[in-house]
Amino acid sequence: MAITPLMPVYPRCEVRPVRGEGVYLYGENGERYLDFASGIAVNLLGHGHPHLTQAIQRQAETLIHVSNLYGSPQGEALAQRLVDLTFADTVFFTNSGAEAVECAIKTARRYHYAKGNPHKYELISFKNAFHGRTLGTISATDQPKMRDGFEPLLEGFTVVPFDDLNAACAAITERTAGFLLEPVQGEGGIRPASPEFMKGLRALADEHDLMLVLDEVQCGVARTGTLYAHEQYGITPDIMATAKGIGGGFPMGACLATEKAAAGMTFGTHGSTYGGNPLAMAAGQAVLDIVTDPAFLAQVTGMGERLRAALEQMIPNHDQLFDSVRGLGLMLGIKMRTDSRDFVNYLRGKGILLVAAGDNVVRVLPPLIIDEANIREFVDALSAAAADYAVPAAA
Ligand SMILES: *Cc1c(COP(=O)(O)O)cnc(C)c1O
Repeated sequence: MAITPLMPVYPRCEVRPVRGEGVYLYGENGERYLDFASGIAVNLLGHGHPHLTQAIQRQAETLIHVSNLYGSPQGEALAQRLVDLTFADTVFFTNSGAEAVECAIKTARRYHYAKGNPHKYELISFKNAFHGRTLGTISATDQPKMRDGFEPLLEGFTVVPFDDLNAACAAITERTAGFLLEPVQGEGGIRPASPEFMKGLRALADEHDLMLVLDEVQCGVARTGTLYAHEQYGITPDIMATAKGIGGGFPMGACLATEKAAAGMTFGTHGSTYGGNPLAMAAGQAVLDIVTDPAFLAQVTGMGERLRAALEQMIPNHDQLFDSVRGLGLMLGIKMRTDSRDFVNYLRGKGILLVAAGDNVVRVLPPLIIDEANIREFVDALSAAAADYAVPAAA
């Protein structure tokens, strides 16, 4: 048998972390890496943050899991906190981002069903979107590498160009249930939507009684300098998926909705065995304790500006490699002139962890706790690596 015990769906690299401390990861043989990937925007408090690990430890000693058949003081408390902090009136807890998006899709469909319009089930989604790997969420993207071989997929998605309000408007039909989008596309290459686009979609949704569904799985939870990215656009969604950073590394997510949008989500319409269990709730509370502090959010914005400025200053010195910097807060992308994946591979050998994304972009997603010294270390190392990097010959 040649297949590996771990199903070989990931081309795993040579980095084999066994321990983490703040912004650093350590490999099996003690190698140290500066982690500016954060488990793909997950470890927003870095590694081994005492407030998070103690909260998880204490809850694990008290009560790890109970069924959703019972009352949940832990779930009620975290849901209330999210309701108080956001546009939402109600919350469904999940174990992952894709499940949060699934719940969002179901909520949007049920909204129209409950109003007597079961034919309104179609969501307009956007080119290069990423919403997860379930059959439902791969149906919402147009990326062949995620879809090929898994057809037939879920019906009811129309994909139009991102940030193109006219295309989104033109795609509305009698069957449209709403729009589904990432305010800042992550896997698609760190592409923030323009304010006109976001405001325009909100206006179209209001005009046609459609659901504006935001996928803030990657850009949410303080990553862009506000608790959720849409706050910076001056609009609110009807439904929103959040995950990744929300557990700081503990697997959890949530679907948030207004009372109006969740009108169809009645007893028995949805569920999850683990979703919202006490251990997850303790992790979520610990993360919110830290990231909702206005001083913390201001720090994220400030560090985002510094990191961006430092990258912009570095780019002209290596303009054969780097094109430009884009993104919001500490969700940054460097658009490359050469292959971004090869450069990310090279950087690993220099002890720097980043993530490649679509559109030939290198994602810079540091823990939100970074300080100026971390930024200096990162930019110096990146600049030195760029100077040494030999662009691979075109195939
Ligand atoms: C990562 C991601 C998902 C999927 O989250 P999983 O936890 O991997 O299921 C969905 N949407 C966006 C925008 C993401 O970045």
